[in-house]
Amino acid sequence: MAHDNAHSRPASAVVARWVDPRQQQPVALPIYQTTTFVMDEALVAAMNRGDYRSEYLYTRMGNPTVRALEERLAALHGAEDGLCTASGMAALSAALIGNTTPGDGIVAANQLYGVTTAFLVRFLARMGRQVVFADTSDPQAIASAAASLAKPAWLLVETISNPLMQVSPIATQAAQARSLGMRLMVDNTFANPLLCRPLALGADLVVESLSKSISGHSDVHGGFVAGAAEPVRLAWDAMVHLGSCLDPHAAALIWRGLKTAVVRTDASCQRAAALVEWLQEQGMEQVFHPSLQIGWQETLTAGGPMLSFVVTGGDARAERLLQALKVATPATSLGGVETLVSLPYNTSHRTPEARAQIGLRPGTVRLSVGIEAFEDLRDDLAQALAASA
Ligand code: PLP
Repeated sequence: MAHDNAHSRPASAVVARWVDPRQQQPVALPIYQTTTFVMDEALVAAMNRGDYRSEYLYTRMGNPTVRALEERLAALHGAEDGLCTASGMAALSAALIGNTTPGDGIVAANQLYGVTTAFLVRFLARMGRQVVFADTSDPQAIASAAASLAKPAWLLVETISNPLMQVSPIATQAAQARSLGMRLMVDNTFANPLLCRPLALGADLVVESLSKSISGHSDVHGGFVAGAAEPVRLAWDAMVHLGSCLDPHAAALIWRGLKTAVVRTDASCQRAAALVEWLQEQGMEQVFHPSLQIGWQETLTAGGPMLSFVVTGGDARAERLLQALKVATPATSLGGVETLVSLPYNTSHRTPEARAQIGLRPGTVRLSVGIEAFEDLRDDLAQALAASA
């Protein structure tokens, strides 16, 4: 009798095919480390319908590990659908390229993340989209900017601006965008869906970097687009052709971080609020935090973990302060469990023009507050302020 075991079959047949023997439900998210999927009847039928998202064909187009994360994040945002990408910039570029055609106009906030501004000016405009920048805290400025466009299509804002922590009145902006025949896209990276759900406030599309507080450990890049099914499908289409898909390993890391996002966000927000109060008592020239802006509760459920302050003594003092810190880490980025501190003058706003445009004062320090004990962060700042005076 012939035995169908590994010894009776040629080696090439033994290694070629694998059939999943598991029937159990894993507690942790399995990583589907595969580029491609067996072409079964369901997949062929889906392809014949032109539906590449409900079955898995090739990981650049979709992967079960990535899809699990997409569904969970879409649920957090209250979105019909979601799309994960390789980074926040991949989400933004796919959302904008996929949801505009040549001739479409974009009114963009003049305080956007620098790489977003560069993407709009250096790449999207070259692709035939018209881009104008406006002070989006001023409805009149939005209206004038929209009027200057041949075909106004999108208003693009960030929930909280960097580094002055200006909060966008998303509900008001969504209503104004609609009245001007535009849709509203919100970059929610400085918040997260626990602090703000832009879709519930009337936004049409949300983009977010998952490299920040959603993953929470400064160890993985990712991005997310959320909204109604069709604009998300258009972003997916662009992402598939740009090739900026999320890797399943990265998706699993983000998934793990997401499990503690609620407690991490609560802890960071509490510490940030306490630090804001303490910094104000220390006589800083200025302190910036979303909670210090009138009407912030219309957009956010809590003030968030990001804050900035201005020290007397300008950028040289700020530089000395940065180097004197022993608990907070001098580094760019945000949203991790470790407190990060950076200076906008030598990171996001390197040119005098960029600083002048938002009125950035010398001596501005930005803090992304982590989950260390408040007392440790306060004492560290106190000793660094003294050492740098
Ligand atoms: N949007 C904002 C507001 C950001 O601060 C960043 C990065 O810092 C991004 C988008 C881009 O995210 P990523 O670095 O994941 O591409």
